[in-house]
Amino acid sequence: MAGVRDLYEILGVPRDATQDEIKRAYRRLARELHPDVSNDPSTEERFKEVTAAYEILSDPDKRRQYDRYGQGGADVFPFGDIGDLFEAFFGTGTFGRRRPARRSRTRRGEDVFASVSLTFAEAAFGVHREVEVELLETCDRCSGLGAEPGTGPTRCRTCGGTGQIQDVRRSIFGTVMTAQTCPVCGGVGEEIVERCASCRGEGRLRVSRPIPVEIPAGVSDGMDLRVPGAGNAGTGGGPPGDLYLSITVEPSPVFERRGDDLAAVLEVSMVQAALGAELEVETLDGTERVRLEPGTQSGAVIQLRGKGMPHLDRRGRGDLLLTVHVRTPTDLRREERQLLERMAELRGEPVGKHAVARGTMRRPSRRER
Ligand SMILES: [Zn+2]
Ligand SMILES: [Zn+2]
Repeated sequence: MAGVRDLYEILGVPRDATQDEIKRAYRRLARELHPDVSNDPSTEERFKEVTAAYEILSDPDKRRQYDRYGQGGADVFPFGDIGDLFEAFFGTGTFGRRRPARRSRTRRGEDVFASVSLTFAEAAFGVHREVEVELLETCDRCSGLGAEPGTGPTRCRTCGGTGQIQDVRRSIFGTVMTAQTCPVCGGVGEEIVERCASCRGEGRLRVSRPIPVEIPAGVSDGMDLRVPGAGNAGTGGGPPGDLYLSITVEPSPVFERRGDDLAAVLEVSMVQAALGAELEVETLDGTERVRLEPGTQSGAVIQLRGKGMPHLDRRGRGDLLLTVHVRTPTDLRREERQLLERMAELRGEPVGKHAVARGTMRRPSRRER
C-alpha cells in the first residue's frame, strides 16, 4: 500500500516510546510544521500526518490496536492511506486530505474482528467453519445511498455544497483558522432530505451473518487470520473491509506444540526399556508402531518424521518427538521382587536398606538440566 508510513516513524520516536516522549516529539514537530508558521503545502500535509499519528499514538487503546494491526507489511496493513487509517480509528473523517475540498462518498468498509475456537485436530488439519460475525451490510432499500427510494440527495445547506466549513480554534499556537470537513454531509457536499426508513440514512445496516471461513491446516493458538473482503461493506461503491479472526486452539491432552513439531512423553516399563519392544503409539494420523530398542535409556528421544503439525506456509509437516520415560515398578509382587533380587545378586549390585552401594555420578546433559 503506497504512501503509508509507520506512525512511529512519522513522529520520529521508537516503538517503545513513553507517552511523554510521544507528546514531546509531537510538540516539537507541530511547532516546526504548523500552517501558521509555514505556508508550504507539503509542510501542511506533513503537519496533518503528524497530527493524525499523534492522535492515535497518544491514546493507549488506539495505540494498542495500531501496534496489533497497523504494521507487518502490506498484507496485514488494512488501511489505504493515512486518512483511511485515521478514519478507522475515529469513524467518519474530520481529517483533511490532499484532494479537492469536496470528497466522494466512496469509502472502504471498516475491518471487523471476531474470534474462533478450534480443537487441536481442527488446527492440525484445517476445517471449514461458519463464523457468526456482526457487521455492516449495504442497505437493500436505498442501495446504500441513504435516501428514501425515489428521493435524491440535494445540495448540503450547511456548507452550500463545498463540503467544508471554516473553523476558528484556539490551540497551543494561538488562534488558528482551519477549513473543517462539513459535519452535516461529511465533506460530500450533499444532504439527504428524506432518510431511508430502513437504515435511517446510514446506507448500511448492522446484521449478524455466518461467514464461511476455510481455516488452513497448521494454524496455532493466538494467530490472527485475515479474511479479505469479509468486513463491513464500503460506502458509495467502496470496497468492503477485511475480517480478522483471532484463533484459539484447545490444548491436546497428549501433544505439546513446539513450532510445527509435536512433543510427547512415551512411558515404558523398566523391562521393556531393557529388553526392547514394539509399541503402538497415538499420532495425529492414528495409531503408529514404534520400535523401542533394547537398552533404551530414560530421556532418549524417538523421532517420528513428518508426524507433527503441517507447515502453514509451505508443504510438509513437522516431526513427532517422543521422549522415553522409564517407569520404575512400585507394585512388585513377591515373585517379581525375588526375580529382581536375584538379578541384583548376579550383577553384584547391592540393594535394600542394609547394603551400601556407591552412587555413580556425572554432569547433567543439556536435556537433564
Ligand atoms: Zn437504506
Ligand atoms: Zn455539507
